[in-house]
This record gives sequence, structure tokens and C-alpha cells, in this order.
Amino acid sequence: MTSDVGTAAARDERTAAGGDEETATFADLGLRPELLAALTRLGYEEPTPIQREAVPPMVAGRDLLGQAATGTGKTAAYALPVLQRLPDDRPGGDPLALVLVPTRELAIQVSEALHRYGRDLGARVVPVYGGQPIPRQLRALEAGVDVVVATPGRALDLLQRGSLRLGGVATVVLDEADEMLDMGFAEDLEALLVEVPGERQTVLFSATMPRRLDSMARRHLRDPLRIQVAREVPTEGQAPRVRQTAFVVARAAKPAALGRVLDVESPTAAIVFCRTRDEVDDLTETLNGRGYRAEALHGGMSQEQRDRVMGRLRGGTAELLVATDVAARGLDVEQLTHVVNYDVPAAAETYVHRIGRVGRAGREGVAITLVEPRAHRMLKTIERVTGAPIHVERVPTVADLRARRLELTRAALRESLLGDDLERFRAVVETLTDEFDVMEVALAAVKLAHEATNGPDDDEEIPEVTLRPERPQREGNGDRGRPSRPRPGGGDTARLFIGAGRSAGVRPGDLVGAIAGETELRGRDVGSIEIAERFSLVEVPAGSAEEVITALRASTIKGRKVTVRRERPRT
Ligand code: AMP
Repeated sequence: MTSDVGTAAARDERTAAGGDEETATFADLGLRPELLAALTRLGYEEPTPIQREAVPPMVAGRDLLGQAATGTGKTAAYALPVLQRLPDDRPGGDPLALVLVPTRELAIQVSEALHRYGRDLGARVVPVYGGQPIPRQLRALEAGVDVVVATPGRALDLLQRGSLRLGGVATVVLDEADEMLDMGFAEDLEALLVEVPGERQTVLFSATMPRRLDSMARRHLRDPLRIQVAREVPTEGQAPRVRQTAFVVARAAKPAALGRVLDVESPTAAIVFCRTRDEVDDLTETLNGRGYRAEALHGGMSQEQRDRVMGRLRGGTAELLVATDVAARGLDVEQLTHVVNYDVPAAAETYVHRIGRVGRAGREGVAITLVEPRAHRMLKTIERVTGAPIHVERVPTVADLRARRLELTRAALRESLLGDDLERFRAVVETLTDEFDVMEVALAAVKLAHEATNGPDDDEEIPEVTLRPERPQREGNGDRGRPSRPRPGGGDTARLFIGAGRSAGVRPGDLVGAIAGETELRGRDVGSIEIAERFSLVEVPAGSAEEVITALRASTIKGRKVTVRRERPRT
């Protein structure tokens, strides 16, 4: 573990790696009933390691320096204590807590999380970020607020207008602090922090701890407790014999992607791990709707129900078990071939536990992880902990799937040719050969066999998405421009339709290259990229959309002129 944070912090550091506290519940963390009720409602079964470590000291009012990436449950790790510390008798005016985040999308996400957890407490949460009209945000602040979630530029703007009053703020959270520094928000953060009363609690979360952040933490945090989500030390022999693969997919495409991966892998028996009870129930239903034999297993079920489910899996009546970690604890299934992480697990240790269920007794197991573009950092941590590479692959295409199905049909036919008694069908073939060529007869027979075993062909193409660029997109022009982070044009992002996709051999790099080469934009200004079979969608800053369209129309992609236009809104 690095100890490049102040000496006081380094003396008091902890690692959120599980251990004895592994079984702690949310109630053990000292959370109030209203919050516990919200967590139950959301189907959270147990705290993640970062939550176990961060919640009690934060509730006690301590400053904290947490090293945790997206996907670890870090938002709840600070959101729950922030809510817990809100006094019951709130005068209802100026904010009591301020959460600073680098991007608009994170501001919205965090504010939604605070809202969900704080519903029974009546917490008023307002997100403010660049790109949204200021008047709306002014009105929201005027109406009274408990927690403000803001991007630094917009927060400073509102502060200077006198609309954001920080005199009552008791807790400040800096989330994804490294990203904020990367985006040139250092001065804004300093300017904001001096406006918040000195006796406040300050909490900083960051995926990485670069030196600049260390010096900032030293200046603004008081004797912080340092928490790291996982030791990044490979441990000998920890990784079982498991083939590890990850697929990068957008959230909305996950059920289809999972189906596709399962079709290509055809596991004998698999466990699909989800984060919450609700996710388990939803996914089980979706998978059954898609023709898989899936069973749900979560902490909300009685022992009898669980035994029944396990019986079905062992007896082969079910092929997929969709489970939370809590429910699957201690579960041992002989015939398990695949472990699927529907999300990147919240801790590397959880990943290791999960995949330890396959690859036993010298057999090779398979671990598959679906990764949303934002959560890729955690994947790197897991690789370091297990000491084994995770291969990032693209989701199998329709063509891959068809090829795989044909392969299965061929194998089935071969087996039949080698083993079965086929004589009784001879008459059928002979009669048909009066009229048709033997090859044609064979082709028709293969088609029937193929359709009988594989069902109709699935034509749904899953868009390819790239890992999120290392630096997030900038906010819109509602934030004041600063020389250190020039804006390509400001404003929201726009999605452009480009009439060439995978079938034309287009890769994300081709599109980024074309845009960076032909316009003022740099590669990192380009947002998410989706590549479908015959087209691609690219996100660019809205202010630069016309420039990009004109430039790309005048040039070629993969040697071809292609259609470029704004994406038509979906109806
Ligand atoms: P974060 O790392 O904060 O981005 O959180 C990742 C995801 O995990 C979010 O979708 C949360 O809703 C979810 N999550 C956070 N804590 C828990 C928990 N204890 N149990 C289940 N899901 C959780």
C-alpha cells in the first residue's frame, strides 16, 4: 500500500479487505432505522467493504480519505453518513452538506442515490451542474435544501452570485477527486473549501491518489482516516484455474449481452451474481422470458425455498442460478462450470470468492464479467489482486452466434453419424433422391436439425461500446471557462449518426482518429462510441457537432464516404 498521504493519515490507515468484519450488517454500522428501511427496500443485503469501513467513522464525524473506484459502492459509503448526520430539526434553508463531483452525469447519479436513501428522512437534495439553465437551479436552492451535489465550476458560480450559501455546511465530500484535479478544477475546489466553516467534516474519495491530491488532502483534511478498498498485492495461489473474460456493455444492453454470452458459452451450470435482491428477481424473470431455465436465490428467501432451488440446479432442472453474494455464501455445486458477474463486484475479494466456485478439482472454470464503461478501473484492481489477466472481449455478434450454432449442429450430426442406427431413415433419403440431389437432401435435413435444436435465429445486434476514456467529458458551458481546460464549444453533448459500422471494419479508434484529425477536437473530447453492424453513434460536445458533421462529410472513414448527421431522436 502506498503511504504518500500525510503522516498522520498514514499511521491510521485501513484496508477494506473484509476479514473479521465480513459479516457486518447495515444495522451493525449504526445507521438509523429510516436509512435501514431504504436499504431493505432497495434490496441491498449487506454493506460492501468500503461501506463497512467508511460508514462508522464518518457517522462519528471523522475526516476520511477513501481510495475507491466506481463500482465499489463508494457513493452509499459517504451518502449514508451524510444523511445520518442531518439533524431532525432542520431549519430548512441553506445546505448542510456539499458533495462535489467532476461531471454532470455523476452529479445526477449521486443526487438520485441520496434522494433514494434519504426518502424517509425527507432529505432535500439538489444537483447543480454546468449545462443546465441557472434559473432552475437558483429556484431549487431558494426553496431550501439539505444536500447540494455540484460540479465545482457551477458551485463557485452560484457561490459568487450569493445563491449558494455555504456557512451552514457541516460535511463536504469530494468525490472522484482525482478526476476533478485532472479536469482543472483545483483552484475552484480551493476557493470553495475556504468558504465552508473550518469545523466541518471533510471526506475525499478518489480512485487514485496522485501526489497533488495528497497535498490537497494535507491542507484540507484533519487527521483523516485512510481507507483503501483492496490491497493491490497479488497473493500466491489465490487465482484458481479459471479463464477470465470481461465484456464491456452499456447497462441497457446487459440482459441481451448476457443472453448472447450464455448462448455462445453454453454452460452446464452457471451462477450469475447480482448486487441486489431486486436485480436478482428482475434478471431471473428476464432470463426465463428469454428461454433459459433460471432460478433466483437471495437473502429474502426462506431456507425451504433455497433448498428447493438448489435441488433443481443439482438435478439439472435449472441451468442458471441468479444470486446475491449473501445467498450464495457457502454454496457448493459440483457441476458448476461458469460464474458470471452481472456487474463488476464491489471488492476484489468478492470476485476471488465468486470465481473460486469453479475451476475446482483440476477442471477449468470460466469467469465472465459484464463491465459498464465507467466501472473499468475496478477491473484493473481485480487483475492485480488475482495476479491473472482478465481478457476484455467484444460481445459475440450475431455472426459469431450463428457460427457457434452451426458448429453445435455439425457436432450433433457427427455424433449421430458415428453412433446412431440410421438405417430406418434410408428409405426416406432414397425416395427423395429420385427427385433431388443427395447434397440437397442433406442440406434440408441439416436445416431441420439445426432449427430444431437452436430455435429461430436471433437477429438483435448489441451495440459495441468502448471503455470510458480515462478523462471524463467536460461539463457544459454553464461552467465558467478557464484557460487550463479550454472548451471545444461548450454546451451539452450531441450524438452523431455515422453510416458505417462493424461490417465496414470500423473500430472506435477510426472514429476518434477521424474526428481528432479533421476538427479542433482532441480524442478525449469524444464521448461514448457505439458501433453497430451497419452504423455507429458518437457523442461529441454539442457546440462542436456542426463542425464535426461538416468535417466528416468532407472526409472518408475506412476509405469510404459515409453519411454523417445528428442522431434522430428515438420515438
Ligand atoms: P458506486 O460504486 O457507488 O458507483 O455503486 C455501484 C452500484 O452498487 C450502484 O448501483 C449502487 O446502487 C450499488 N450498491 C451500492 N452499495 C450496495 C450494497 N451494499 N449492496 C448492493 N448494491 C449496492
